[in-house]
Amino acid sequence: MASQIIREWLGINSFAPATQTKLLELLGKLNQENVNSLTILVMGKGGVGKSSTVNSLIGERAVSISPFQSEGTRAVMVSRSRAGFTLNIIDTPGLIEGGYINDMALNNIKSFLLNKTIDVLLYVDRLDAYRVDNLDREVVKAITDTFGKGIWNRALVVLTHAQLSPPDGLPYDEFVSKRSESLLKAVRLGAGLRKQEVQGSTIPVVLVENSGRCNKNEKDEKVLPNGTAWIPHVVQTITEVILGGSKSIFVDQKLIEGPNPNARGKILIPVILALQYFFVIKPIERRIRTDIARESRPSWEMRDTASRKY
Ligand code: GDP
Ligand code: MG
Repeated sequence: MASQIIREWLGINSFAPATQTKLLELLGKLNQENVNSLTILVMGKGGVGKSSTVNSLIGERAVSISPFQSEGTRAVMVSRSRAGFTLNIIDTPGLIEGGYINDMALNNIKSFLLNKTIDVLLYVDRLDAYRVDNLDREVVKAITDTFGKGIWNRALVVLTHAQLSPPDGLPYDEFVSKRSESLLKAVRLGAGLRKQEVQGSTIPVVLVENSGRCNKNEKDEKVLPNGTAWIPHVVQTITEVILGGSKSIFVDQKLIEGPNPNARGKILIPVILALQYFFVIKPIERRIRTDIARESRPSWEMRDTASRKY
């Protein structure tokens, strides 16, 4: 991280003054609690708006976005500092390719994160997706297998494309809560979490609209259809998660390698060898010995001796 160039966070100036004030207030609150740096990890499937969300939160086009899911397999960290506070956001490539977990992308992300501390995970998906399937669970499982269940105490579910008119005349808030519930269920199942394992009972869900056509309020802040100024709301929720008492995740070699199935197997090797010796090799040896004893002379020899008698 030392070699990382940390630029002044100028992007914050691009926000509406009301948004800037709220953000600086929240950073001040973190500073008060002796938190003066924050590392946010952004993960999810491809094309859901991860990179766009990074840019929206930084307030500049720091990472490249693409409508076509050609994100490469590398993670990128954007670091900005402001008033003694450092914000690091790690953008990652989508974890799914051709309907499966992209192991190469996952391994690259792991080695990129080695020796870094993750304060918050933003698990990104789209609000305007109507189905939750096995693939969602697979992505959550891959994240959980890598960082441990504890990562979900430090997670927010981020739903992009939040400026939408729900289908079938559903009220906006009802649509949001239905979509959130089904996604949270997939997260709980994929992470193997029981309800009580998620601190404060549930993972917060926040809404994001990255489009340049996002509506604005009278103070020129970007707002959701329900009137919430979403940038300060996301940062406030991140602050609450951080100050909520759970632990950040330090990514060391042990965490990345996890409970190594090979190592577990190795313990059994002498046992398997011993079992093989006593229950396979020994009985075969014994059987061969009895066979030899029984047929000490070949049968033609026996026949010969017999014929010579006459
Ligand atoms: P990633 O693959 O998850 O990093 O997704 P990108 O950030 O590259 O976004 C994929 C496409 O979705 C791009 O064309 C973005 O412009 C678009 N996009 C991302 N977020 C939003 C959003 O909140 N609203 C709308 N309308 N488009 C978005
Ligand atoms: Mg991207």
